Order: sequence, then structure tokens, then C-alpha cells
Amino acid sequence: MGKIVLLDENTSNKIAAGEVVERPASVIKELIENSIDAGADSISIEAKNGGVSLMRVTDNGSGIDDDDVEIAFERHATSKIRSANDLESINSLGFRGEALASIASVSVVELTTRTINKEYGIYARVEGGTVKELKQVGCPVGTSFVVSSLFYNTPARYKFLKKDSTEFGYISEIVNRIALAKPGISFKLTGNSSVALHSPGNNDLLSVIFSIYGKEVSRNLLPIDYEDSILKIKGYAGKPEISRSTREYQSIFINGRYIKSKLISAAIEEAYKTFVMKNKHPFTVLNIEINPLLVDVNVHPTKMEIRFSKEQEVFRSVYHAVNNALLSAPLIRDAHFQE
Ligand code: ADP
Ligand code: MG
Repeated sequence: MGKIVLLDENTSNKIAAGEVVERPASVIKELIENSIDAGADSISIEAKNGGVSLMRVTDNGSGIDDDDVEIAFERHATSKIRSANDLESINSLGFRGEALASIASVSVVELTTRTINKEYGIYARVEGGTVKELKQVGCPVGTSFVVSSLFYNTPARYKFLKKDSTEFGYISEIVNRIALAKPGISFKLTGNSSVALHSPGNNDLLSVIFSIYGKEVSRNLLPIDYEDSILKIKGYAGKPEISRSTREYQSIFINGRYIKSKLISAAIEEAYKTFVMKNKHPFTVLNIEINPLLVDVNVHPTKMEIRFSKEQEVFRSVYHAVNNALLSAPLIRDAHFQE
């Protein structure tokens, strides 16, 4: 008798959840990305007690067809790709079909959703990955997820949660980043009762920056509008004087996806090298558009890391985009050349 068994679905979902759902902020990120993929232009997010007791994400997107509600919670169930070929050029934020299965396996999820062609919506309640209730309800077109009792059945994960205010900080950070990536979408984030962010959704990146960072930052920015044979970059480079001692001040988006990239951070720092003091990190928001064939987003379950196939070219382009913006500002340029 051999010793190897195939794990049951519930167990494998819980294992996968370990990678995708690290903390409340990861749940919020996945739910918002789904709302964006569903074409929403207004997304509201509510987090009670740092998201630990309750998270609610409501969108005005396409909604989920009633035939799809149950399968949406299965692992590897997605409407976004059809075959491995599609992985070569991904246009949506999601594609792994893992988030809902993972989230539902470690919490209690309530879903209310309606598509435009139906007069009624569907309500589903899923506990620890098992559908407990499914019924028709009246509701507006769009989707609302309520996630409660996060990690109730994974005590080890629960124990590693930080203070509510720290968890809320993580949520706020990820919502801010996504709002910067999508100026055409209005985001509203509410904490225990106060509003932490309300972006207008008027397609103006500067107004999102203002909503998040305030007057001082938004008054001290240089626009970036760059294009070469491999990529396009739009965004803002902060004047050297608003640089800070933390890298948290850098937002990098590739084809609308918030990512962290050592390569791009290094190119930004190189472009600022002669303008800011060592150990200070410049404020930058870069929206980079690149042929999806040149990037691999399927590197890590959270999709925060990506791989470029033309690293040197990408480095050079980002360097030039940022450096050009800095050199185009008269005061900065003059100070620079006097050195
Ligand atoms: P993925 O986003 O990788 O496809 P998910 O597990 O996050 O996988 O979601 C599964 C499916 O559920 C999605 O492919 C989509 O069809 C549907 N879905 C999830 N959230 C929403 C939403 N807010 N609006 C419309 N459809 C949604
Ligand atoms: Mg998803």
C-alpha cells in the first residue's frame, strides 16, 4: 500500500489560500481587482476592525450570471482566460481563478450580485468553502462581497494578524495604489466609520494624488509623458525637495497592475541620482504601458512581481522618462548644471 493520497478540495484550497490570502488587505486587493475586471467605475470598500471582523466591497460592474455563482468559488474557475495560450497576453488583472476559492476557504463570504439582463439578483453564503445558502434577491446591477470571520478556521494565520489599525494601514495602502492606477474609477474606502479615501473617478491622476497625498505633494510634481519603441510612460515625478526616507512613496504600474520591481525602482533612483541626497526616495507615480508579450505576470500568486523579457531596454526607458521630466523643470535643471 503506498503512502501518497490526493488531498481533498477543501484542504488544497486552504493551502492555496496561504499564498494568496496573507491578511485582510490581500482579500481587499483581490476583490477590488475583480471589480475592475468586471468594468466597474465606482467601487466602495468598507473595513471594520482592520478588516478582521468585516470587509465589504461593492461595485457597479457587470455582475455574475446566476449560472456562474457557484462555480466562481471553485479553484481554477475563471471567466478571464480559456487556455494556456491566453497566458501570453493577459489583459485582465485576474486570470488564476484562485482568489474566491482561497478567500472562501478561510472565511465566511456573502455574495450579492445581479447582471443587467436579469430582474433579480442572487445571494450566496459560503462558509469555509461550502455553499450554505443560495437564493434569489432584489438588488442593483453589480456585485457586493461581504467577507467576515477571516481565518476563523486557520488559527495559526489568525494569530499573526497585527493590531486593527496596522491591518487597516495595509488596506489603505493597497486601495490607494489601485486608485492611482485607475483614475477613471471612483474609489471610496471607509474605516470603522470615517472615510479614508474618496477619489473622484474623473480620469485625472493629479486629483487622485491630491486625494491621497494632499496639497504639498500635488503642487510639487513634474509630469511624465514618454514614449519609445518598447513602452509608454505617463505619470508624475516629484520634485527632489518632496523626497522622503521611505520607498513607500513610489508607485509603479504595468498595464494597470500595481507591482513592485527592483529593476524599475533602480532605474528611478538612477534618474534622480544627482538630484536627491542618498537615502532619500523620490515621489513617483509611473503608469507604464508595455506590450503584454514582453512581461510575464504569472510569477507569483499575488501577481505583485513580474518578469520582463527586455530588462535592459526597460531600465533605459524608465531612466530616460524620469530623467527627461526632471531636466525639463527649469529651476531643477539650472541647479543641476551649476553643480
Ligand atoms: P479570477 O479573477 O482569476 O478569474 P477569481 O477567483 O478572483 O478568479 O474570480 C472568479 C470569477 O468570478 C471571475 O473570473 C469572474 O468571472 C467572477 N467574479 C468575481 N468577482 C466578480 C465581480 N466583482 N464582478 C463580476 N464578476 C466577478
Ligand atoms: Mg480575481
